[in-house]
Amino acid sequence: MPVDVLLTCTECHKPFAASRFGNNVRCAHCRTQRNKLEQLRQLLSHWYYPRRWRADLVEPSVYFLLEKLWTANGQGESLFAGIGPPNVNYDIFRNLVTRVIAKGVEDGWMDLTFPGDPLAENPVYKLKFKDPDRFAREIEALFPNVNWDEQIQVPLPLAEEKPARRRKVAKSR
Ligand SMILES: [Zn+2]
Repeated sequence: MPVDVLLTCTECHKPFAASRFGNNVRCAHCRTQRNKLEQLRQLLSHWYYPRRWRADLVEPSVYFLLEKLWTANGQGESLFAGIGPPNVNYDIFRNLVTRVIAKGVEDGWMDLTFPGDPLAENPVYKLKFKDPDRFAREIEALFPNVNWDEQIQVPLPLAEEKPARRRKVAKSR
């Protein structure tokens, strides 16, 4: 069952009901196509609002969610170890790569799939490296001091993550 969520258009500033999210979501008033990261930002905020008193949750931000997605299952550490950028620690690395991935979602070479019901307790977002070559080029540009003779290993398995558990939960899958 699709659910209606009120999104606010950042173009004409009017609210409109949306029942699907991601590509080709248009404002019902001014018909402009709505940005995916902006949709995500608003959905996460709607998701968090009724849960804001819960001690086990942190308010998920767009970057927080994207970072959880691409670093899931040790993929973040593997990529960091594989590239070994000089003078960059894992925190900075994660941060920079998350920003590249956000840009990729915006530009369409990363694929972010939205859950059917983003307000459910555990909505599952999925991130896919739709264009691994493009991702590799972006990462190369990010760390020009690295010797890029060796092909970098792009984390290909699709990542899924739920918004905002603060504590680490053992993965069952
Ligand atoms: Zn509008």
